[in-house]
Amino acid sequence: MDKCLFCDRDLARGSLEHVFLSALGAHIATRRATCHPCNNAFATDETGKIDDALAEGFEEIRNGLKIWTGRNKPPPTLFRAALLNNGAEFDLAPGFIPVVRPGRVPATLSSCSQYTLVAANEADAKRQMDILSKRGISVEAGTAVRVEQKAPTIKRSVRFDGPKVWRAVAKTAAVAFVVLYGNEQARRSISGEVRNAIRYGVPSISDFAGWDFVNDWPSISSSSPHENTPDAKLSGFEHSVIIGDVNERSVAYVTLFGGWRISIDLGERTTLPARGLATNPRAAKPARFVLTVNAPATYAPRNADSFATEHNKVLEGNKEAFSRALQTWSEEARASYAEQLAGELTISVQAAGEDEAKRAAAIATFAQKLAAIEHGDGWSTDLGTVFDEDTSATVPEGT
Ligand SMILES: [Zn+2]
Repeated sequence: MDKCLFCDRDLARGSLEHVFLSALGAHIATRRATCHPCNNAFATDETGKIDDALAEGFEEIRNGLKIWTGRNKPPPTLFRAALLNNGAEFDLAPGFIPVVRPGRVPATLSSCSQYTLVAANEADAKRQMDILSKRGISVEAGTAVRVEQKAPTIKRSVRFDGPKVWRAVAKTAAVAFVVLYGNEQARRSISGEVRNAIRYGVPSISDFAGWDFVNDWPSISSSSPHENTPDAKLSGFEHSVIIGDVNERSVAYVTLFGGWRISIDLGERTTLPARGLATNPRAAKPARFVLTVNAPATYAPRNADSFATEHNKVLEGNKEAFSRALQTWSEEARASYAEQLAGELTISVQAAGEDEAKRAAAIATFAQKLAAIEHGDGWSTDLGTVFDEDTSATVPEGT
């Protein structure tokens, strides 16, 4: 009979435990690894919410790479992500698409002061003017400038709670072990200390697992779609787990989003063949792969000092993985925006009809906008008048 990896409870019908968190866009799950109380504990204070710590650490990546969860929930929106150059606050919709938030009217505003009103759109500007008018403040609008900006400078970094993330990733390795070799073998091979470190935080996970940008990684000689997902395609941002003996130890190598690496010393060597699995989190439907792998020849185990002594390497490794994701986002965002511009061009050229001057103007505008995104900066369009509400936008004398 299968038993829970973490408490030895009999698993008549275990809890559906995801190998990689569902939040990370993964679909591989098994009922042969954990009982319901243990599975639930990973999402609660009982374990310090290790699942959340892992999911939150990758929030930016999930947004930028448009990762839907394994349960078909949309990628996260990053609220109040930053300010545009003109002072507008924006959220980042999935795909790092900036969406300007409705403006806020200051609580205190005296007459005879100049106030730069930031509005998401004309309706929002009108709404703010109305609020001011109701407060009895006479507003005279100055020049309105619409600032369009495709790619504001986004300065974000990925932050991780080390030990919680390592525990969650070590759980990934343990559950993957069950998928690759079975429940009984997993309980025989994965040391009780590692399992306790995952479930209870004691002993410390840093004795067994941690970021790993120093060890050689297993070589993958082939990767083919799993029989359950024959159409699976790779995106380059795969999550993978590879388990193999290295000298006297059994080591799990976990890669998240194709670049973040964590290794786990699971216990003594098993004499089992090295195996691996991977999943493409960017795929719209389950995409699983079977990996043919070779374990490296040597392994330097993680220990309590690894993070401190390898800090620069970890920083560099994480940064590289993040840059790679950002680069992809940037290319995709520009490509889709250029496509949208091309669509607008078609419409304005058609609208221009026989008017050569209008056609030329539409094309010139298109070229200007395209150049702006190619060079990565914004552009302004002077609207000339105010808010498209004719003269009513200039609120008449109040007090
Ligand atoms: Zn349990």
